[in-house]
Amino acid sequence: MENFLDASRHKRRVLVVDDEMINRELLGAILENDYEVTKAENGQQAWELLNSEGTAFSLILLDLLMPVMDGFELMKLCFADETLKSIPVIVMTSEKSAEVKSIRMGAADFIAKPYDMPDVILARCQRIIEFNEDKTIIRYTEKDTLTGLYTKQYFDEYLRRLKADIDSEMDAVEIRIDRFHLIKELFGREEAHCLLRETAALIRRDLTASRGIACRTEDNSLLVYCEHRNDYEPLITGFQEELAQSSEIRGVNLRAGIHKYEDDSISLENRFERAKAACDRVCGQYETCTAFYSSELHRRSMYHQKLIGDMQDAIDNHDFMVYYQPKYQIQGDKPVLTSAEALIRWKHKELGMLSPGVFIPLFEENGLIRLIDQFVWREAAAQVQRWKEQYNISLPVSVNVSRIDIFDPELVQKLSALLTKYQLEPHELMLEITESAYADNADALIAAVEALRDRGFRIEMDDFGSGYSSLNMLTSIPIDVLKMDMKFVRNMFRDEKSMGLVRLVLDIAAFLEVPVVAEGVEEQRQLDKLKQMGCEIVQGYYFSPPLPADKMEALLRQNAV
Ligand code: C2E
Ligand code: CA
Ligand code: CA
Repeated sequence: MENFLDASRHKRRVLVVDDEMINRELLGAILENDYEVTKAENGQQAWELLNSEGTAFSLILLDLLMPVMDGFELMKLCFADETLKSIPVIVMTSEKSAEVKSIRMGAADFIAKPYDMPDVILARCQRIIEFNEDKTIIRYTEKDTLTGLYTKQYFDEYLRRLKADIDSEMDAVEIRIDRFHLIKELFGREEAHCLLRETAALIRRDLTASRGIACRTEDNSLLVYCEHRNDYEPLITGFQEELAQSSEIRGVNLRAGIHKYEDDSISLENRFERAKAACDRVCGQYETCTAFYSSELHRRSMYHQKLIGDMQDAIDNHDFMVYYQPKYQIQGDKPVLTSAEALIRWKHKELGMLSPGVFIPLFEENGLIRLIDQFVWREAAAQVQRWKEQYNISLPVSVNVSRIDIFDPELVQKLSALLTKYQLEPHELMLEITESAYADNADALIAAVEALRDRGFRIEMDDFGSGYSSLNMLTSIPIDVLKMDMKFVRNMFRDEKSMGLVRLVLDIAAFLEVPVVAEGVEEQRQLDKLKQMGCEIVQGYYFSPPLPADKMEALLRQNAV
């Protein structure tokens, strides 16, 4: 896929710095056929230009004697600057002594005044630019050893050279293997890398048919700069199908975010940031695997960035709060409060109360959820202890354990430490793990759950019926409680079949010899029917929404009398 971009279509930029107008005009006239020329009247002006446009310049032609800031001073500044020092400087002077001094300082060459040999000047500029570009490009390792695509550094440098950001026919694309970090944890580095390599090979094959260049980034995204197309869906789903055939790993999802050219004001770096935002948007989704960047998406991703940025402060400032939703045992004469579920709430300083539905999926994506979870576990454990001490009531509270927590080798230890610190029995801090986590990787999860149960923790399988556990798997999974997904209760009176599903879940639980918690119970008739069918525990708005600790406490006291 080398050389698909035609470098000669773009003019390099040259900065001419001279205080005499006649010289600036003269050099401009000599160069402007081959280069895009920018002019500055003194070192100060040039310095400002360099700081705003920096590496866009391929060469500086510099007069030495100038008012405000002279050429020596500017060279000193440039060569001390990490990014600017790579731009070659040709000094223009008529004094021999100054030539030597400037070469010593780092100038690449000099041109003697007056400018009476335009061809010589042009040839020198060209030679110095070429020489310098060869030199910098060699500094970067060209190919990524894992994928055979370019390295990110080379990719950036190459596109910068081409001033690719102003090429309106090209798309900036980010392609990602959905939940790659999980795949790596579940199947190991080797398998994950193999998958990346195969994806890269598909991209390379596709690019050979058109103009384009691609690289792998540090966090294993694949960036592609290629000719615009209106629809990427067939391409990506096609890749996906091929991967499914060649890889051992089932259900690999590729996701792509695309930034279509808008205007010259958006730098290439920015274009790829936007492609990433579009890619973030489709990751974890099933309906579609590609998204073009749009202004709506921009607002959304800014919002997400903000939430991610605000999280740590919010933990420190106690803007996160734990609410408690009671669970009732319903098989007796009257319902009895038996336990509660801890649910996080975020009272955001500017945005007000945020629902976990907004921020939990976001934090799951980048692993920050672990911090939230540990905060909730700690709060909940402390709360259970307080209730025990103040009212002599033990109300077990269940906390949510995210998929990613399962892979924390210190999980058992962390939770055990809480029991010790708050003097709790393991059954007083129950753990809810969503069913889909089991389906993701049964073996690792079963091992983790067994370790937790050995320590005495009770495990509730959350959202049961929303994942795809096989009956076979269910019999080998050690669980203590089954939490039926809310949608079963919501739909139970819709038709016979839906009622049949509720019965099926209750039967499965009976077979596994574990009790069922029905979530999302809002109506009397749902409660009555569930009770009649033998469901033991109910949680839902019918009894109470999730409550702040003090309200939950009131309920607890009232229940105790
Ligand atoms: P979930 O674990 O399935 O929690 C039950 C959700 O159902 C809660 O929503 C609860 O407020 C809501 N709910 C309870 N009763 C009813 C009802 O009668 N009708 C309806 N329509 N909804 C009811 P919430 O608090 O918004 O939490 C949403 C999800 O966010 C939770 O689903 C859980 O997956 C996640 N989440 C909440 N807190 C945490 C946490 O501390 N850690 C983790 N990892 N996830 C959390
Ligand atoms: Ca839950
Ligand atoms: Ca649930």
